[in-house]
Amino acid sequence: MKFYIYTLGCKVNSYESGVMADLLKKEGYIENKEDVENDICIINTCSVTNSADHKSSKIIRSAIRKNPNAVMVVTGCFSQANADEVEGMEGVHIVLGNKYKTKIVSLIKEYLKDRKNVKQVEDIMDTEFESMTLSDFHRTRAFVKIQDGCNNFCSYCIIPYTRGNVRSKKKEDVIKEIKELVKQGHKEIVLTGIHTGNYGAENEQEENPYDFACLLTDLVKVQGLKRLRISSIEMNEINARILKLMEKHPLLIDHMHIPLQAGSDGVLKRMNRKYDTAAFVNKIKEIRTIRPNLSITTDVIVGFPGETEEEFAETVSLIKQIGFTKLHVFPYSKRNGTVAATMENQIKEETKKERVHTLLELSKELELSYMEKNVNKEEIMIPEVYKEGYVIGHTGNYLQIKCKGTKQEIGQEKKVYLEKVMYPYILGMPVENLEKVI
Ligand code: SF4
Repeated sequence: MKFYIYTLGCKVNSYESGVMADLLKKEGYIENKEDVENDICIINTCSVTNSADHKSSKIIRSAIRKNPNAVMVVTGCFSQANADEVEGMEGVHIVLGNKYKTKIVSLIKEYLKDRKNVKQVEDIMDTEFESMTLSDFHRTRAFVKIQDGCNNFCSYCIIPYTRGNVRSKKKEDVIKEIKELVKQGHKEIVLTGIHTGNYGAENEQEENPYDFACLLTDLVKVQGLKRLRISSIEMNEINARILKLMEKHPLLIDHMHIPLQAGSDGVLKRMNRKYDTAAFVNKIKEIRTIRPNLSITTDVIVGFPGETEEEFAETVSLIKQIGFTKLHVFPYSKRNGTVAATMENQIKEETKKERVHTLLELSKELELSYMEKNVNKEEIMIPEVYKEGYVIGHTGNYLQIKCKGTKQEIGQEKKVYLEKVMYPYILGMPVENLEKVI
């Protein structure tokens, strides 16, 4: 039987789609590259904004149209939050929430037995981590989901309701999964989760809780692992123990994604973020004392309810002051069921668009300036793709390098001299070639 998985939303959803594909393939199902003529379709949905909801239901309808005879499974945040609505959609056979994605094979078999619709949507506000492992990675960089859920309740975000409470993968399972991936040849591991830096927070009442810093301490010892990347970490989770590890272990690479969301204390407060701008700036200073060339990328939401011109100008100014490498800019999008959706002074779409534009231009400027700063240096890249005599890959600080090379170098460390910026790449020269030239 052929199956196709549609994935919407975040890295965690991508990981979980990979896990479901793995499980189905192990049972003999065949993954189809096309979204037509399938026997099974899985739509792993997102619900982060109202428009993500609309997109999810649009994709469900289109999948049903394109695959009229397929078993239709809808899972993820949209089905977790709107289980009854999804159940009522003509052509949907299995409604699965965010828990039990690892039961995908048995749920499909259950449906196929007597063709009776199945609904498996649990209350996830107080639940255990669902252990899962993804072993079939085609990419150089392998993701490992170490955590699920979030207890932060930022006022604009629905995720704590659709993903539930903070819960973490057992340390033994994380270490085992990473050792296995390294054995398969992956040099770089990306730790991911809904709120990755909150790993182990559910145990904080214990005497010696095993937290994110403890996990990193164990992971830097894994033999053969060259790069350990954290998909995203909140600024107040970067504590003294993590800074100490960064000081000692270059394996914790020179790139961090630290969400700022706004550079105005008024907006941060309304967002219910757990820091102010002064604390953010101080943390960046601490990090840069240890790692001066660290690339710091961030997320920013513009047009949050009540965001004045002055508040937006504060955000622009703070971004420049910090000197992020790149910004991921999101126009605020109303999400029903959140506190921010009920706030007064919702910002006009036109104003949001202008602010997005301003920040995207600033982002490009910052990115180019960081790239220029790194020209004339030697770096290690890990080639990810080969194209017409060149390999393309990233350095630890996430610069995208294009360099002469061969297919055989994919996944191997390669020392390069960074010659010049050719956006979006930096042109690199293999160091052995350079030595010959000299
Ligand atoms: S930290 Fe805030 S934005 Fe991030 S998932 Fe939790 S509630 Fe949402």
